Amino acid sequence: MSAEKHEFQAETRQLLRLMIHSLYSNKEIFLRELVSNASDAVDKLRFLAVSSPALLGEDTELRIDLSLDKAAGTLTIKDNGIGMSREEVIENLGTIAKSGTKKFLESLTGEQQKDAQLIGQFGVGFYSAFIVADKVTVLTKRADSDEAVRWESEGEGSYTLEPSFKLDRGTEVILHVREDDKEFLEPMRLQHIIRRYSDHIGLPIRMLDEDSKEWETLNQARALWTRPKSELTDEDYQNFYTHISHDHEAPLAWTHQKVEGNLEYTSLLYIPARAPFDMWDRDQSRGVQLYVKRVFIMDKAAELLPPYLRFVRGLVDSSDLPLNVSRELLQGNRTVEKIKSALVKRVLDMLDDMAEKKPEDYAKFWQAFGVVLKEGMVDDVANRDRLAKLCRFSSTTQSVTPEVTLAAYVARMPAEQEAIYFLTADTLAAANASPHLEGFRKRGFEVLLLTDRIDEWVVSNLHEFEGKKLESVARAGVDLGGKEETPEQVQQNKDFEEVVTRVAKALESRVESVRLSSRLTESPSCLVSGDNALSQRLQKMFQQAGE
Ligand code: ADP
Ligand code: MG
Repeated sequence: MSAEKHEFQAETRQLLRLMIHSLYSNKEIFLRELVSNASDAVDKLRFLAVSSPALLGEDTELRIDLSLDKAAGTLTIKDNGIGMSREEVIENLGTIAKSGTKKFLESLTGEQQKDAQLIGQFGVGFYSAFIVADKVTVLTKRADSDEAVRWESEGEGSYTLEPSFKLDRGTEVILHVREDDKEFLEPMRLQHIIRRYSDHIGLPIRMLDEDSKEWETLNQARALWTRPKSELTDEDYQNFYTHISHDHEAPLAWTHQKVEGNLEYTSLLYIPARAPFDMWDRDQSRGVQLYVKRVFIMDKAAELLPPYLRFVRGLVDSSDLPLNVSRELLQGNRTVEKIKSALVKRVLDMLDDMAEKKPEDYAKFWQAFGVVLKEGMVDDVANRDRLAKLCRFSSTTQSVTPEVTLAAYVARMPAEQEAIYFLTADTLAAANASPHLEGFRKRGFEVLLLTDRIDEWVVSNLHEFEGKKLESVARAGVDLGGKEETPEQVQQNKDFEEVVTRVAKALESRVESVRLSSRLTESPSCLVSGDNALSQRLQKMFQQAGE
């Protein structure tokens, strides 16, 4: 049978071109991407072999082999993982199936460094082969099939596909290395790249030693999280993060813990430095990876962390869950619940630590994920006080970036100030211009300026902090003048009685009451909410939601 020619999707073509240009300065990452795919393919096979051991057959030593053919100018990356069927090859290597393709292309900046990160985040790893190869051949056979497929492309507009012959299951990616990139045919160079980026891969990555004719293992070949912390460097942890997250920016922090006793598991959790571009895409499931006794079970096991910690990346390797655990089984599982609450504590500890020791990193974190973390103030009653301490706000004294902690606010409160005051508004500019602030400014009372939608819920769930009540400056009962009415105020009330009555009459059907106020210094009047009424912003939000 002859080869069939297929056109790449338009987006794929565009992406290929962009990638070859933007990753030019960091070519060696192609190997990390291909090794990462081979490792994923082995993980998939291991997982399926739990229920169908026949898939493994005699070929039980799972591995990745690199081989060089200097005469032909090729580098081959071969795995004995799950392999691909014809349909899978078309789906995975001919299209970019991920939903946000367009969004991704729009977000490219033309700046090499940034685009390189985006590309990694987007997971177009396979195509990085074309950075160093002018032709790529993939030979693959699925573990449960007898038919092999040969895919080939020069990375321009099209690829060919034909049935082929392959003895064993798995995938071979053959790179026809470009004339200018012959360095990637040097064993030393490859060895170095593998040690640098793929040391943590949990299976042997081997290369044939030309002199001794023996296969030499280049990496540690043990899953990183199973190794003692003392053996691991920051770079090891960072490379591993890139491997599991596809994020090329170094994480802000991580925590690696081996738990023994009643519950036995290892967790390795990372705080990324920035939000993924699709963080607000509701269809994107989030979560950490789940392994059971070193076997990869699933990506994005959402049950292991609450939604407000969905930015956390990493993994949990449990010895207590069954290998055939499914998503359904995870829900409401007692072991999972226990692991989950321990992980929440671990993440909050990590954030506390960062806030205390690395305030600049914490500011970065807050910038990227503060809005998500604040959801916990509503959802996680048990940890509300801890979360309150982690929150950062803008205020009338420090309004540019949100860096005011509630603790610092309380510490700054003048003796006569009784409550923590806040104002909610759509923007900082609107907040700052609010007439409600006049009286507070005059008295030197700091007011928190809250501009995230979630803030309304946060303040309505957090009633007090360190014994100080939280009060909206837009509430009628906010009293700025002390307990007793001064003789001056009594007189004023008398003088303005008639005006107040007339205004009240004119607005009768639209307001509850009209009062003389001490809160304004320049504006003639303002609208406030009744003490027990919903705030104006919440009312607006309900109206928008059609409730
Ligand atoms: P990602 O790894 O983020 O999914 P890639 O572009 O690296 O994106 O790979 C695309 C897909 O191609 C993979 O998800 C996988 O389904 C398939 N694939 C790539 N390499 C292999 C391989 N060695 N064995 C089996 N499948 C592979
Ligand atoms: Mg990949």
